[in-house]
Amino acid sequence: MSFVWTIAEQYEGRLRGVSFELLSRGRALADELGTKLASVVIGHGVTEESLTELIHRGADEVYSIQDPRLADFVSESYSRILADLVETYQPAIILAAATSSGRTLMPYVAIKVNTGLTADCTELAIEEGTGNLLQTRPAIGGNIMATIKTPDHRPQMSTVRPKSSRPLPADSTRVGKIVEVPVEDRYIDERVRVLGYRTDEEDFANIEEADVVIAGGKGMKKADNFSMLRKIADHFDGVVGASRDAVDRGWIGYPHQIGLSGKTISPRLYIGAGISGSIQHLAGIKTSETIVSINNDPDASIHKVADFGIVGDLFEVLPELQRRLNELPREAQ
Ligand SMILES: Cc1cc2nc3c(=O)[nH]c(=O)nc-3n(C[C@H](O)[C@H](O)[C@H](O)COP(=O)(O)OP(=O)(O)OC[C@H]3O[C@@H](n4cnc5c(N)ncnc54)[C@H](O)[C@@H]3O)c2cc1C
Repeated sequence: MSFVWTIAEQYEGRLRGVSFELLSRGRALADELGTKLASVVIGHGVTEESLTELIHRGADEVYSIQDPRLADFVSESYSRILADLVETYQPAIILAAATSSGRTLMPYVAIKVNTGLTADCTELAIEEGTGNLLQTRPAIGGNIMATIKTPDHRPQMSTVRPKSSRPLPADSTRVGKIVEVPVEDRYIDERVRVLGYRTDEEDFANIEEADVVIAGGKGMKKADNFSMLRKIADHFDGVVGASRDAVDRGWIGYPHQIGLSGKTISPRLYIGAGISGSIQHLAGIKTSETIVSINNDPDASIHKVADFGIVGDLFEVLPELQRRLNELPREAQ
């Protein structure tokens, strides 16, 4: 029986939330196909309790591959392991997160196992009759949704946007199997050694995983004004995003860019200030749960996609928003 697989992500031994989101996607597909769902965990220091949580949240089996040499994500080593596992177990479908590591790892694996890969899917379904995976993602600047199939090769591989699904509630009565996969020396690429991480905000802007993104565009006028956005983002434990125009002007770093040539985000709340709403920018925010636009042009395109459109001068609206947030008790923010 060919299983559906999800690739869990860990950092310093802790599973990332996206690992559980993927399981809810995988569970639906496995049920539809009448097969089992397995989750693959590569890393170091992931506890038995965390591995069991994967079972509680939908997995039937967990393949755990752990070694101190795998503590850091190294695509060369991780892809060797995955390619080997694919050869051994022949899964039908592999889902990974469309995060920096998922986006790096999956193309490596797809090449090694000679199959296709659809990046950044927002919808997944099973085609009636054939059982093929239907992989849907925005295309042509977000103007159309394209559905892609991999009919002739296996496994069918997709990366799935973080925050595009919710984890299943943990069910402690679910039982499953944890398989410890031995680590072979040939898996480890000794040429690559992680010396450390840069953790300054510019390079580590995790806007893809943030629940709240406050973005600024050309209407912000200058770099200093982005501090207004940062203060509001801090209220929500959110992060600051930007249009390409703001990034091109050097007001904020590229990791903050949202859109076609930047990042795709799916926060619970997106606020765009001084952003016109070009097709390319909208491509990156379409799956946001709630969109708020602040723009003094009533005809700005961003107002058309917004759940709440504020027509006004951002230099009046943002301070007022900040003032109201300051008045709220912390737990209500
Ligand atoms: C191949 C390609 C890829 C691209 N990729 C991206 C991408 O990934 N992301 C992206 O964002 N763009 C991208 N672009 C660029 C895109 O086409 C737009 O040029 C860009 O999004 C415009 O940025 P903006 O909204 O900040 O600026 P503008 O379009 O100039 O809009 C500024 C807005 O601010 C408003 N404003 C001005 N002053 C105030 C004020 N005081 N108060 C309130 N509102 C005010 C104005 O009314 C205006 O609507 C791409 C373009 C191409 C061709």
